[in-house]
Amino acid sequence: MEFPLAETIYDVAIIGGGPAGYTAAIRGAEYGLKVALIESSAKLGGTCLHVGCIPTKALLFNAEIWDHLSHAAEFGIGGIGAPTLNWAAVLKRKDGIIAKHVKGLDFLMKKHKIERMEGFGRLTGPATDGVHTVEVTNAADEISQVKTKNVILATGSEAKMLPGLVADDRILTNIEILSLNQVPKSLAVIGAGAVGMEFASMFRTFGTEVSIVEFLPRVVPVEDEEISKEMTRLFKKRGIDVNTGARVEKVEKTEGGVKVTFTDANGKTQVKEAEKVLVAVGRTPRTGGIGVEKTKIEMERGFVKVDGAQETAEPGVFAIGDIVAGLPQLAHVGAMAGVVAVAKIAGREFRPIRRDRIPGCTYTEPQIGSVGLTEAQAREKGYEVKVGKFPFAGNSKATILGSHDGFVKIVADAKYGEILGVHILGPQATELIAEAVAVMELEGTVEEMIFTIHAHPTLAESLLDAYGAVEGMAINA
Ligand SMILES: Cc1cc2nc3c(=O)[nH]c(=O)nc-3n(C[C@H](O)[C@H](O)[C@H](O)COP(=O)(O)OP(=O)(O)OC[C@H]3O[C@@H](n4cnc5c(N)ncnc54)[C@H](O)[C@@H]3O)c2cc1C
Repeated sequence: MEFPLAETIYDVAIIGGGPAGYTAAIRGAEYGLKVALIESSAKLGGTCLHVGCIPTKALLFNAEIWDHLSHAAEFGIGGIGAPTLNWAAVLKRKDGIIAKHVKGLDFLMKKHKIERMEGFGRLTGPATDGVHTVEVTNAADEISQVKTKNVILATGSEAKMLPGLVADDRILTNIEILSLNQVPKSLAVIGAGAVGMEFASMFRTFGTEVSIVEFLPRVVPVEDEEISKEMTRLFKKRGIDVNTGARVEKVEKTEGGVKVTFTDANGKTQVKEAEKVLVAVGRTPRTGGIGVEKTKIEMERGFVKVDGAQETAEPGVFAIGDIVAGLPQLAHVGAMAGVVAVAKIAGREFRPIRRDRIPGCTYTEPQIGSVGLTEAQAREKGYEVKVGKFPFAGNSKATILGSHDGFVKIVADAKYGEILGVHILGPQATELIAEAVAVMELEGTVEEMIFTIHAHPTLAESLLDAYGAVEGMAINA
C-alpha cells in the first residue's frame, strides 16, 4: 500500500472503517471534502458487516425460512417432509453476503476517490496551525504520518467479557458464535439485550435448548416494560428458559461443555449446564492506544464525550459510532453521527442526533421495533400520558402471515396529542417502526395519524388502529 506524500493535507482523516467511519467518508466526499479513511483491517465494514448486524440478520432470516418450512403443511404445502439443516451452507451464504458488501464498500471508496490507508491510526496531539497529524502504523510496523484539518475517531467497540473469562470454542462472544461448525445442542446466553436475545431466538428455532440469564429484572431492558413482559412470555412459550434478576457467580468448563452458576431472583443458587455459553453483556469502546490522552478530549468511562456536532473538546477532532458517550451503540446511530460530523466540517446545515428519535430494533421472533419514550419514561418526565394499544390479533395481514403475537403501543402526550413513543412487538416490527420515526421526526400528532391512510391489508394498519386506540377508537379491536 502506498502512502500519500506528507505534504497532502486532507480536510478530514477518519480513523475506523465501520458503518460510522465509511458513512462519514462517503458523505464527506459528496460534500467535496478531501477524505482519508484509515482502517487497520484489510476489509472495510467493521463489527456491523463482519460480526454484527449483517451476519446475525442473515442467519435470523435462515431461521425464519426454517420456521416457515416446519409449518409448511399449515400453508397447504406438502411433500417437504422433515427439513434438514445444512449448517455449512447456511454459514457459506452468510459469508457470501458479507463478501458482497465488502466489495460494495471497496467500489464506493473508489467511486468517491476516498484515500484508503491500511493501518492503525492514532492522534499525536493537538493541531499545529490548524493541521492535525495522525500516525498510521501498518502491519509491517512501518509508521507514516497523515496531515489533516479535521480528524474523526470511529474506532468502534468490542465484546465485554465477564471477569476471568477468555473467549474460546465454548465460551463465546458474537465473533466465535458466528462461525460454530454446528448448531449446539444447548446454549446458555448471559445477557438479554438485543444481541443475546437474537442469538437465543435464532438457535431455539434451529432446535437448540436455550437458557437466558439476565442480571436486570427484565429482558430487553431498554424497551417498554410491556414489551419485555410479553417477550418473556413468548420466549417461554417457545421453550426458552428465561432467568431475569439473576446474577452469574461462576462460568466453568465441564468435560463436554460449560456450567453457569447464578443466584436467581429469589436468592437461590442455580446451575445451568450447556454445550456452549454466549457472553453478551455489552460492548467496550475501543479507545485505548489512539492518542486521546495527548489531547483535550474528555472521556467518560472509556467513551468519548462530544457536542451536538459530534465534536470533542479538542477542536477539529470528532467522534462517532460506538465510542461516543451517551448514545446507543447501533450502526444507524454511528452512520448518522458521521453524517452530522462531516456536515459540520463542510460548513453545511445539520441536525444534532436526538436520543428520542432513534429506532431500536431487535430481530427476534417476534421482532421488536421502538422509538422515543417508554410509558414509564414519559411519566417520569412529567407528561400527562395517553396510551393506545392494538394487538396484531386484530390485523388481517397478520392473520394471512400466521403471525398474531404482539401489539403496537403508542405513548402520547394527552394535552397536544404529540407522539412521544411507539413500541412494536410483532411481525416485521423492525420495518414498521420506520413510519413512527418519520412521523416523530416531523412532529406529527395522534390526530394527524388517525387521518393518515394506510393501505389494506398491511401490517402498517396496526399502527393506524393503535393511533385510534389512543382516543379509544381502534376500528379492528
Ligand atoms: C452481534 C451483533 C449484532 C448487531 N446487530 C445490530 C443491528 O442489527 N443493528 C444495529 O444498528 N447495530 C447492530 N449491532 C451494533 C453495530 O454492529 C455497531 O453499533 C456498529 O458496528 C458500530 O459501528 P462503528 O463504525 O462505530 O464501529 P465498528 O463497526 O466496530 O468499526 C470500527 C472499525 O474501526 C477499526 N479500527 C479500530 N481501531 C482502529 C485504529 N486505531 N485504526 C484504524 N482502524 C481502527 C476496526 O477494525 C473496525 O473496522 C450489532 C452488534 C453485534 C455485536
